[in-house]
Amino acid sequence: MITLQGKGVSGGIARGRLSFLKRSSLSVEKRPIDDVDKEIERFNTARLTAAEQLDQLAGNMTSKIGEENAFLFEIHRMMLEDADYTDPILEIIKSEKVCAEYAVNTAGSRLAQDFADMDDEYMKARSIDVYDVSKRVIRILSGEAQGGAESDEPVILAADDFTPSETAQLDRSKVLALVSRQGAANSHTAIFARTMGIPAIISFGAFLSGDLSGKEAALDGETGVLYVDPEPAVISALEAKAEQARCERETLEKLRGKPTRTKSGREMKLYANIGSVSDADAALAGDAEGVGLFRSEFLYLGRNEYPDEDTQFESYRKALEKMGDRQVIIRTLDIGADKQADYFDLPKEENPALGMRAIRICLTRPDIFKTQLRAIYRASVYGNAAIMFPMINSVDELLKAKEFARVAREELRAKGLRFHEDVPIGIMVETPASAVASDILAREADFFSIGTNDLTQYTLAIDRQNDSLSSFCDTRHEAVLRLIQLTCENAHKAGIWCGICGALGVDLTLTERFVAMGMDELSVEPSCILKLRARIAEC
Ligand code: PEP
Ligand code: MG
Repeated sequence: MITLQGKGVSGGIARGRLSFLKRSSLSVEKRPIDDVDKEIERFNTARLTAAEQLDQLAGNMTSKIGEENAFLFEIHRMMLEDADYTDPILEIIKSEKVCAEYAVNTAGSRLAQDFADMDDEYMKARSIDVYDVSKRVIRILSGEAQGGAESDEPVILAADDFTPSETAQLDRSKVLALVSRQGAANSHTAIFARTMGIPAIISFGAFLSGDLSGKEAALDGETGVLYVDPEPAVISALEAKAEQARCERETLEKLRGKPTRTKSGREMKLYANIGSVSDADAALAGDAEGVGLFRSEFLYLGRNEYPDEDTQFESYRKALEKMGDRQVIIRTLDIGADKQADYFDLPKEENPALGMRAIRICLTRPDIFKTQLRAIYRASVYGNAAIMFPMINSVDELLKAKEFARVAREELRAKGLRFHEDVPIGIMVETPASAVASDILAREADFFSIGTNDLTQYTLAIDRQNDSLSSFCDTRHEAVLRLIQLTCENAHKAGIWCGICGALGVDLTLTERFVAMGMDELSVEPSCILKLRARIAEC
């Protein structure tokens, strides 16, 4: 038996034969050409065909991976029209008088490398998108078909890396799991695998060698371990784990649709954190009683320009409609620090986590802020909306943000557009300043939601992005827990509710303490809701 350790990015147990993804070899030889204009026309025709394919793909994939995820193919299509992508290709055809396949491959590889070299993890992961688009165009130019698995049997599919197109187009009935040599945990490939419920492990490096093809294997997508030629004892252990997971799910299913109650009978709200409209489906599937944190910044990331009011309105409207009567708390833009979008043109900063981010950007860029607020207010008539401001430190900031909300309402009224006047406005408590001053802030807020990810980072002065500090980061630090308790007490004294939407909310070892504090709501990953409901019932 060979045991390989990778990075598990989509949980679940799988057992089957390993099969390497067969990619049709692409013709990328450097073929000289005589007629430059004709070659440019060849490229442009292939580009149009690729755009048509991507349009179709975006439509077909919506039911499989969700509308928001399928939007990636729309981004691929936009890339084909982007001069940053096409100009270098045309330049190579003209200056080197070579075939379009070679030009696309060369220019595309350079651009993909530029992305791969970026510091920002999100931008780094976009490298595979450029590669994906280029391969599509080359395939069209050379008239070759898309590759597939080497086998007709369901297999554990292996590859160097999977492009988002490959992952999204996988036939679920033929793929037991995905394993790759490279990859990034936040890549679209990993996101698609999770959405489609396919166990996936990445980053095996060269250990995942081609000569393992055809061998029997078993894997655990949670721990990231792949066993080749697994011993009977390993198979039994994995089967037992899968069986235990099935039993636990069955028991938890009995709590579906039931209210969340503590042992003493006090009701709590169990909400879901979402980042896109399609995640609202996951929230419903997980039995969320509402959405406690809609991270709206994901509407701004992965694109080249600001999403306009109508685009945002559509997303908020759809999320609200999907959730029906259930409350949907939309957090206004929380960009900056680790979440960067080039078109914001944010200044380079020494300490971005302490810099121009979240509400600070919104308060200094009124157009961006008001556009978002108008979109949320317009959508508010389609469901049960609430607004939440991130990174609020002081009453002054909160009053300024609320004034923007008032102006946004005024503007909609002037245009005769419909909206709810009384959308609740709350804040995230995610700095020590806001926790300590929560008694004053509570007078101006309709609710508090504690962002423990940032609250921990700022209280302990430990960069949440820096893996090497993890041994210093006590996520259950007493200082953070006391700030949470203080915030909750001050909320209740002022007669408003208090919840937690940071990752600490799902820590089952702290549930009893949160219940004892009188926490009103916990907002967590949709898949954790039933588990947490069971735990709360014991506390
Ligand atoms: C938090 O800081 O806890 C939070 C929920 O916000 P984010 O993780 O998006 O910064
Ligand atoms: Mg935060």
